[in-house]
Amino acid sequence: MIPPATVRILGIPVHDVTYDEALAWIGRWIAQGEARQITTVNPEFVMRAQHDAEFRAVLERADLCVPDAVGITLAARYLGQPLRGRVAGIDLVERLAARAAAEGWRIFMLGAAPGVAKRAAAILTGRNPSLDVCGTHAGSPAAEEENDIVQRVRAARADILLVAYGAPAQDLWIARNLERSSAAVGIGVGGAFDYIAGTVQRAPPWVQRVGLEWLYRLARQPWRWQRQLALPRFALAVLFSKRR
Ligand code: UDP
Repeated sequence: MIPPATVRILGIPVHDVTYDEALAWIGRWIAQGEARQITTVNPEFVMRAQHDAEFRAVLERADLCVPDAVGITLAARYLGQPLRGRVAGIDLVERLAARAAAEGWRIFMLGAAPGVAKRAAAILTGRNPSLDVCGTHAGSPAAEEENDIVQRVRAARADILLVAYGAPAQDLWIARNLERSSAAVGIGVGGAFDYIAGTVQRAPPWVQRVGLEWLYRLARQPWRWQRQLALPRFALAVLFSKRR
């Protein structure tokens, strides 16, 4: 398999992959049994990484950085390095569940509020009856819980570890612990369990198509406004970076 092309948005790597290619890489990494990290890059990630050296290093070292958001694909096109499309973390998780069911890959779902991962697991298993969710745990990204969580993932013999602690906590957690968890692939999935479990509603497809998912999110979760300031800052920084 040819490694995917890397596009840099404000210095942060994003890989030009499709859903099918991402799933193929996951399959290969499970077969190899090495610890490989996937991140789902959106404009908040890029802005955070501008001043957070630790997070930036994790993105730099990640084996796959998928273009999670419309803002990323638009920026790539504007900068003259178009990506073939978006690979949204939530959609990747849903497709991964179907592939995992067919291939027998074992998935551990870590993070989100208590009970949410379990509910999301039940929904994914309902849709994919042969899916093996080998464990769920809310836990927290706090350092004192790491050993306990790593033991749970090891004991479950997970192939894939999905971590829903939000960025950058989830991605730093994976970078620190994936290898000793013995899982082959770790993916930071943000709010994916909330969407699957239905605790947070996703924007309707037409809203996603016109690229206004961020506005829908702002209306539904207005307390996120401060984090969403990253969006206009990102747009300005991208515009400005081309002019220089
Ligand atoms: N979360 C968690 N523990 C924490 C902080 C966050 O389990 O200490 C979960 C939260 O419940 C949610 C997810 O992490 O399910 C992050 O969701 P968010 O919508 O913030 O994701 P992002 O915007 O980072 O993709």
